Amino acid sequence: RIRFEDVSVAYNGLTVLDSLSLTVNPGEIVALIGPSGSGKTTALRAVAGFVRPASGRITIGDRDVTNLAPYDRDIGMVVQNYALFPHMRVEENVAFGLRARRTAEDVSRARVPEALAMVGMSAYAKRYPRELSGGQQQRVAIARAIAIRPQVLLLDEPLSALDAQIRRSMVDELARLHRDLPSLTVLYVTHDQSEALTLANHIGIMRDGKLRAFGDAQSLFRYPPNRFAAEFLGRAN
Ligand code: ATP
Repeated sequence: RIRFEDVSVAYNGLTVLDSLSLTVNPGEIVALIGPSGSGKTTALRAVAGFVRPASGRITIGDRDVTNLAPYDRDIGMVVQNYALFPHMRVEENVAFGLRARRTAEDVSRARVPEALAMVGMSAYAKRYPRELSGGQQQRVAIARAIAIRPQVLLLDEPLSALDAQIRRSMVDELARLHRDLPSLTVLYVTHDQSEALTLANHIGIMRDGKLRAFGDAQSLFRYPPNRFAAEFLGRAN
């Protein structure tokens, strides 16, 4: 479970996350959508530990992680532009997160092929990132994130650099991955409403650092709770 309690984040005195309260229940996928600059990525980075809230509390499971270093938070994260290490083979990229957490070598040797198998990339273990397509690189990034067996997976626009057709098949793959890892709690930032609708149990709509609407995907689209949500979802008439 991920819980934000009244979390605010400011950059140079400017509030970009404004008293966010939100819970992602264990095993759920919550998608955050909203206009550019509304604070979605900042919310994710606060969970990851890359920005420190000015106030409020973030818990993962029963642990208050607000002041923990990123590596101590039991999270995996995937960002938009793959961010694989170009000079490392696929298997070394996946092992990197394990090594950074000082996982024993024999455990690491078992986890790397297991994680690659989960994303259908076993055949590419010895390749370098430049020898892979964008979608394949993103699968490796996902394998690297899940190899540490995190409680929480943070996905920041993981598919937005891919072309439309690959994106659709990756959405199906993410859905399958989540069926294989049913206890994994996922916070998913996207600007793609259909991705959110397909993958998420609940959707949050942000604007100006605030959560303006939250609900299960179907009812949010059918009965937007306010005018902004309706307009953002293209449901205003
Ligand atoms: P997008 O959909 O465009 O990725 P977003 O909803 O994820 O947007 P954030 O990236 O969270 O939005 O940014 C929220 C606000 O914080 C924006 O106004 C942005 O300019 C500002 N911001 C983000 N990172 C920094 C930073 N490192 N320094 C200063 N301001 C920042």
